[in-house]
Amino acid sequence: MIACVVAHEGKRIFEIDPDSYTFNPRLFMVKTATISAPVQCRHCENAACKQACTSGAISIKDDVVLIDTKKCIGCKNCVIACPFGAVEIVETGETARDGSVKKIANKCDLCRGVADKPSCIRVCPTEALALVTEESFDEAIAKKRRKAMAGNL
Ligand code: SF4
Ligand code: SF4
Repeated sequence: MIACVVAHEGKRIFEIDPDSYTFNPRLFMVKTATISAPVQCRHCENAACKQACTSGAISIKDDVVLIDTKKCIGCKNCVIACPFGAVEIVETGETARDGSVKKIANKCDLCRGVADKPSCIRVCPTEALALVTEESFDEAIAKKRRKAMAGNL
């Protein structure tokens, strides 16, 4: 979560007053009595958040589901539509037209524009996180099919 915030806010977060910026990681640690794991956007092929957004703020570019923060009006439709709870509404630090604090949708952008990405995968000490590419996806399916064919399931 810290790596995610640093990826988007920069290392300055270690040098400035913690109250002067918003700590908005784009993945969420979920803990139960027996397991803990991060939950984040799956970058769905038919993204329910994109279909629910009436502002045209959500698009898919290079297989990444992205939110245009300038178009987002914080209506929360995407938050409700996402089956994984991967989207949340956060304060931006900017002021809306009515003088209130501007709030927008926030979620994993697969570190778009960040060098040495994805940051959460890079820093995970147990290599529990992995980026599933089309190639690795196909390879995993092929491996399962080979196992199924050999009757080793
Ligand atoms: S909160 Fe923003 S991104 Fe989400 S559906 Fe509303 S306008 Fe679209
Ligand atoms: S890929 Fe990047 S934006 Fe997405 S959760 Fe990981 S660090 Fe955050």
